[in-house]
Amino acid sequence: MSYFDIAKNEISEKCAVFGIYGAGQEASRLVFYGLWALQHRGQESSGIVSSNGRQLYRHAAAGLVSNVYHEDDLARLPGHIAIGHNRYSTSGGANGAHLQPILQSKYGFAFAHNGNLPIVRPMQDFLDTHGVTYDGLNDSEMMCEVIGAHLDNGADLATAVQKSYPLFQGAFSAVIMSSDTLIAFRDSCGIRPLSIGKIDDGFVVASETCALDTVGAEFIRDVQPGEMIVINKSGMHAHQITKPNQKLDIFELIYFARPDSNIMGLSVNAVRENFGRALAKEFPIDADVVIPVPDSAIPAALGYCRESGIPFEMALMKNRYIHRTFIRPTEALRERDLKMKLNPIPELIRGKKVIIIDDSIVRGTTFKKEIAMVRAAGAAEVHALVSSPPVKFPDFYGINTPRQDDLIAANMSTEEICKTMGADSLGYLSYDGMIQATGLSASKFCTSCFNGNYPIDIGELKKDLKY
Ligand code: AMP
Repeated sequence: MSYFDIAKNEISEKCAVFGIYGAGQEASRLVFYGLWALQHRGQESSGIVSSNGRQLYRHAAAGLVSNVYHEDDLARLPGHIAIGHNRYSTSGGANGAHLQPILQSKYGFAFAHNGNLPIVRPMQDFLDTHGVTYDGLNDSEMMCEVIGAHLDNGADLATAVQKSYPLFQGAFSAVIMSSDTLIAFRDSCGIRPLSIGKIDDGFVVASETCALDTVGAEFIRDVQPGEMIVINKSGMHAHQITKPNQKLDIFELIYFARPDSNIMGLSVNAVRENFGRALAKEFPIDADVVIPVPDSAIPAALGYCRESGIPFEMALMKNRYIHRTFIRPTEALRERDLKMKLNPIPELIRGKKVIIIDDSIVRGTTFKKEIAMVRAAGAAEVHALVSSPPVKFPDFYGINTPRQDDLIAANMSTEEICKTMGADSLGYLSYDGMIQATGLSASKFCTSCFNGNYPIDIGELKKDLKY
């Protein structure tokens, strides 16, 4: 298998979570809209659990949000509290056994997780001592068992979550609910985003602020790293469980998050535009036109144009009805996907010196084909720019990246990559240029995919990495 596959931890990938507590609100419908706004974070499956204060109801299935829920499904999710999840799985596929939210009927709670716990040993040891079997469970399911064991010992849900924190070694931006309480909690590094909003007398938590906007909630603030937010009939209460050590995964700003989201006070769109401006300063190129790879590189390409004065053209047309191709299980499938997804407009390209900008190169397969597409459309020169530094290390905190062997920049120099790509020149944004473009200090970010500095211990996994 050529994909990221850490033992049994392969399932909880970069995902979306959403939760609402709101008297008088049709909670599940708002979660549905919220999940739709967060579709870019996961397209394999989706699920919602709701509560009317007495009982938990669940609906989850493989597919896009628009396909998973029909009117009668939402009607069967009554109540004023609900959580939801979109999953972005690996080649393991949309296996029904791992759909989220996880409903723990025995304990009366439901749980949805964005992130990944690279070290599960402490949870396994704990479960061993409590006589709970964990064979076949992924990290999220083990988290549920740990919380359940504390509930068994008489803790309430918030206390159970708090007591479980020391065993959760990894990245988690999570929501959990009982029939009367909604809780949101985040690891001490805040690797994945999580924000809180207000809606009438209720509260909403969402992976990204774009989902708050969609449901008409007003942004209050991010859930702080290491913080647990408890929402129930007495309002919202914040508890700082562990010392915060903010390390947002910078890839959220580069690629994952939607440009209309705001994370750590940063407009994702503005940061991406700054990446492009920085690229223009680092790589001034005599070109006729700048072309973005849609959609993720559009803000960076605009930044390059604004800084350089070179005209912008949307010369690669994207079929908006094809979702992200990155995690297709085989190369052949990914190749066909790309052809369905992008088509050039030759008259914008023919005879021109072209700069093509993408947000990142991971394996290198996508950009190579895009460059070939631009050449085939008659470009006189093709200069490739990337609005992030070379990706040399895999992610272990909830993003689906391939093994290090499959990361092109871990194995080749920029010159070699340029040659393989068939570009006339290739430039990556420098690490310092990337950090400066955020306006924050490097210490606020997890940049492990560029430098292999993993802020949360990855244990044994580090042994296999080449530095
Ligand atoms: P490739 O170099 O062929 O592996 O593909 C890289 C492209 O996929 C980039 O242009 C990004 O837009 C996108 N991408 C980067 N990282 C991821 C990821 N973890 N999941 C999905 N798409 C990604």
